Order: sequence, then C-alpha cells, then structure tokens
Amino acid sequence: MQFGIKAWLRHPRLMFARLRYAQISTKITCFYAAVLLLVLILTSVLTGLGVFFSFYHQAEVELEMSMNHVLDVMEQGRSIDMDFGRDDIVLPGVVLRITDTTGQIVFENDSHFPPLRRIEENTVKNPPFWANKNMRVVQFRNATFYHARMDVDYRGKIYQMHFFKTITAEKHFLETLQKILFLMTILGFLLALLAGFFVSRKILQPIRDMIVTARKIEVEKMDRRLMVPPARDELMELAETFNHMLDRLEGGFKQQQRFVSDASHELRTPVTVILGYSDLLSRWGREDAEVLDEGIAAIRSEAENMQQLIEKLLFLARADQKRQVLHKENIEISEVLADIIKKMQLVTKEHTVELLQNDDGLMYGDLVTVRQMFRIFLDNSQKYTPAGGRITVTSRYVAEPQGKFMQVDLSDDGIGIAPEDQKKVFERFYRVDTSRTKAKGVSGTGLGLSIASWIAEQHGIEISMSSELGKGTTIHLRIPLI
Ligand code: ADP
Repeated sequence: MQFGIKAWLRHPRLMFARLRYAQISTKITCFYAAVLLLVLILTSVLTGLGVFFSFYHQAEVELEMSMNHVLDVMEQGRSIDMDFGRDDIVLPGVVLRITDTTGQIVFENDSHFPPLRRIEENTVKNPPFWANKNMRVVQFRNATFYHARMDVDYRGKIYQMHFFKTITAEKHFLETLQKILFLMTILGFLLALLAGFFVSRKILQPIRDMIVTARKIEVEKMDRRLMVPPARDELMELAETFNHMLDRLEGGFKQQQRFVSDASHELRTPVTVILGYSDLLSRWGREDAEVLDEGIAAIRSEAENMQQLIEKLLFLARADQKRQVLHKENIEISEVLADIIKKMQLVTKEHTVELLQNDDGLMYGDLVTVRQMFRIFLDNSQKYTPAGGRITVTSRYVAEPQGKFMQVDLSDDGIGIAPEDQKKVFERFYRVDTSRTKAKGVSGTGLGLSIASWIAEQHGIEISMSSELGKGTTIHLRIPLI
C-alpha cells in the first residue's frame, strides 16, 4: 500500500484529497465509520466521566459527612482521647486519626493505616482534574485514597484531624472501564468499516451493473436496456429514465436512418431517368428532333421533381434541427384562403374548386408556411381526385369556452384513403400505393403531409381527417384565433 496509517497521519490533506476521487462505496463507508467513531468516543468519554465523578463524589460526601459528625460530637463536649470514637464516629470505610501539635497520635480508629510521614511523602503533587480541591490524593503502593485535614482548637489545645477514604476499588474499576470502552470503540469502528464496506457495495451493485451495460451500448447495438431493479428507489428511477432515454435515442436513430435511405431511394428514380434520357439523347438526339424534345422535357420534369424533393428534404431537416425560421404576424385567414382558391381556380381545368364559406378571423402565424400548409392539402386534393371532381373549402368561425377558432374543412370527392392508411399518410415518405394513383401517373414524395403537420404543430393547429375509399377526403383544421 502506497499510503499507510503513518503516511496518513503525516499527510492528512493528501489522504483526504485521495478520498475525494475514491469510489462512492469507500466514501460512504469512511463517512459513516468516522461518524460512528465520533459517537462512540463521545459516549465513552461521557460514560467514563459520569462514573468517575459519581464515584469520587461519593467518597467526598462520605468524608464530609464524617467530618461534620466529628465536629458535632466535639460540640457535645466529648473529650479527645483514645475513647473519642467509642461509637461509630465516622462512616464505615472512613479512617480518622487525631494528632496533637507534636505529631503524637491522640486517637485513631485504624492502627494499620500508614504513618503520617509516609502519607505526606506519597501525596500526589498534581492531583487529577476530577479531585476535590480541598482534599489531597495519596497514592501509596497500590492503594489510592483521599486525605482531608482539619485543624481544631479544642479546650485550649490544637488538634490536627486527618480523615482518609480509600478509593482504590473505584480507581481500578474506572481503569477497567476505560480499557473496555476503548476496546469497544475500536471494535465498533472496525465493525462499522466492515459492515459499511459490504452494505454499500451491495447497495451500489446495481449501479455497477448499469455501468457495464451502458458501456456495451453503441449506435449499432442500441437495443440493449439496463436491468430495472425491483425496489422502487432512486436506482430504479435512474434505470427507467436511462432506458426511456435510450428508447427515444433509438427511435431518433432509426428515423434518421430511414429518412436517409428513403431520401436516397426517392432521388435514385429521377437520377436513373435522367441518365437514361441523356443516353438516349447522345445516341439519337442529334438526328431525331422528336427524341430530342421528349428527352429534354423528361429530363426537365425529373429535375423539377428532384428540386421539389430536395426543397422538402431541406425544409424537414431545418425543422428537425429547429432552424426553420418562422416570422409570425397577424394573418387574416379569409384573405389567405381567398387568394389561394382564386389562383387555383385560374389554373385548374380538370376540377371545380369552390370556397363555400369564408369567415373573417385573425390568426398569429407565419404567412409563408401557413400558405404552404393549405397548398399541400389542396394540391393533394387535386392530385388524388379524378378529372371532373369537386374540391370545396369552408372556413367557419367558432367560439368555444376554450377560445375562438377557425374551423377550416378542405374536402374532395377523390379516391379517398383507407382507414388503415389514414394515420400513416402523415409519416415521412409514406405514400398509399394504389393502382389508381400509379395509372394516373401522380408524382409525389410522401413528404407533403409531414411538412403540413409540422407547420400545423408550430401554430397550434389541430388536424383531423375523415376519408372513405372511393368517396373522398376531408381535412379538418382547427386554427386558434387571436
Ligand atoms: P405525396 O402526396 O407527395 O405522395 P403526402 O405526404 O402529401 O405525399 O401524402 C401522402 C399520401 O397520402 C399520398 O401519397 C396519398 O396516397 C395520400 N393522400 C394525401 N391526400 C390525399 C387525398 N386528398 N386523397 C387521397 N389520398 C391522399
């Protein structure tokens, strides 16, 4: 190990810095072990101190009570001689020795107690902090005792009264208690370290599993998901959130891939046609004026298709990247519709186009894209309605508790859309492949409705569709008004 306990003690800052970069399980373990150690130390110290004080205090009280009793007896007039302590003058365990000024023992209740001279010699110079300041502490061989001294002037004579109380047992008990508390603290700390290590490892195991799985997830293998732990906790939430994020990413990636392949597929046809015609032109175009005209017309038409497709692709790409700029302003819907329908009527020979109702209403939107949206629906009506068909538009003002709306219905009596296709037509590149559209030579990209629905979304417009095969289609738009 590069850093041992000694090194830690020498460079505590360095070790704490190392801990910052340690694993979460190590951090949790260290933190809780440190807290527990602190608590253990605190409880041990408090327990020790409590016992300490109560024990020594007990000894002090006994000494004081004995001293008071002796003073009481003297007040009663008992003479100080060997008979002074004929009844229990001091509490059991308290030794009393009375000497006169010459040091001669006048009374003592325990003759085995060491002589005063020895006691003086063994008095502790710096008594411990817990000791009563009015008493001395004597350490004599293995025994420890309190020594309280009182000088009295009695019947013209000076006496020195020495009271002793052994505190050896208490001291031994406390020493043992100290050792036990110390050992318990160390043991508790080690146990906390061990338990913390195992428990935090176990708790964090799902995170490690997540890391392993997450490492295996790549763009090519986006189908992997994290295992969701059964417990309803933060880890479960994390796994679920992560999985949802992957779902969204995978969806996005797949959409992107589909978009690219569909776009290339759509571009391939016009390019093939253009190449075919340019071959034809290079072979026969110089001699045959008819081939030349046909070739040029076909190439132009395909190039136009390509241009349209590229425009639409660019529009969607900008929309996806949120770069499509919208200049919103107040738009009078009736004016926009009237203008579009008038232009349509001018160019359409095959269908009748009618604006049945055109109520006034102001919307807040981007004029260019809103027009584009109407055009997409109306162009579709034209494309998918056989010659002689009828296209009608009604724009009706509705006031509802939720707000004011313009209900615009764009109807045709064309080929209609089968119920199973009605949702799908709004997807990118989706085209209903029917023999009728093919036979009619309708050109399309399958992008119109997805562009229209993006524009509607940007303006809070709700789109719904009702359509029946062979009968026709109606697009319902609910445009919020200001
Ligand atoms: P495009 O028209 O370029 O193919 P769209 O996204 O505008 O692409 O439309 C998707 C498909 O929805 C069309 O290919 C067509 O099959 C169907 N569709 C859209 N509008 C109508 C309509 N008014 N009547 C019948 N089918 C329609």
